[in-house]
Amino acid sequence: MKLILLGAPGAGKGTQAAILADELGIPTISTGNILRAAIKNGTPTGMKAKSYMDAGHLVPDEVIIGIITERLAESDCAKGYILDGVPRTIAQAEALERAGIQFDHVVSMEVADATIMERMSGRRVCEKCGASYHITAVPPKVEGVCDVCGGKLVTRKDDAPETVKDRLTVYHKETEPLKDFYKSRGVLRSIGDMGSVEATSKAILDVLR
Ligand code: AMP
Repeated sequence: MKLILLGAPGAGKGTQAAILADELGIPTISTGNILRAAIKNGTPTGMKAKSYMDAGHLVPDEVIIGIITERLAESDCAKGYILDGVPRTIAQAEALERAGIQFDHVVSMEVADATIMERMSGRRVCEKCGASYHITAVPPKVEGVCDVCGGKLVTRKDDAPETVKDRLTVYHKETEPLKDFYKSRGVLRSIGDMGSVEATSKAILDVLR
């Protein structure tokens, strides 16, 4: 099963990808996670990507295409995979097609911009271990302190409201056209905002079956 999760930043792609990976027994490939690891490790790719990511812009296609082609050639991808956050442009989608990859389903998670803004402004992450919280939906036991390791909870640099706005603009301009791209290939499935993580997973699994 080869699957793409499409949706705005903060639509819940990462959360759903983790659940689906468990359910379907295939890996999740997130270019955002690969890039954040590269930045942490100070690799040349990470250094190139950092300024784009901090500003909420897309990392250039050639960098992403290199990363994803390399990753999909690894043995754990042989039985299929879930792509989270890639492709994000028509050029990336065309590169995957040129590599001979055909997707079974492209799930578009539809969440209104206002809801995204609300969700992202409440997201907090632990600066030490990376655990994720939300001030109202998933609050820590003690305000500002990580339940797991006691680290300080901070706002991700690219979750600042001005940056989220930019990321949404980029999403509508560069990524949303992928819906028509995959619709014309007969693989687009749209999922509305179901209001809870569980209801969304169920809706996604229903369209895959
Ligand atoms: P994410 O964790 O998916 O929200 O990605 C965080 C940031 O990484 C994005 O705002 C982009 O700067 C960069 N990024 C991740 N995936 C891609 C991609 N497929 N194309 C371009 N930039 C990406």
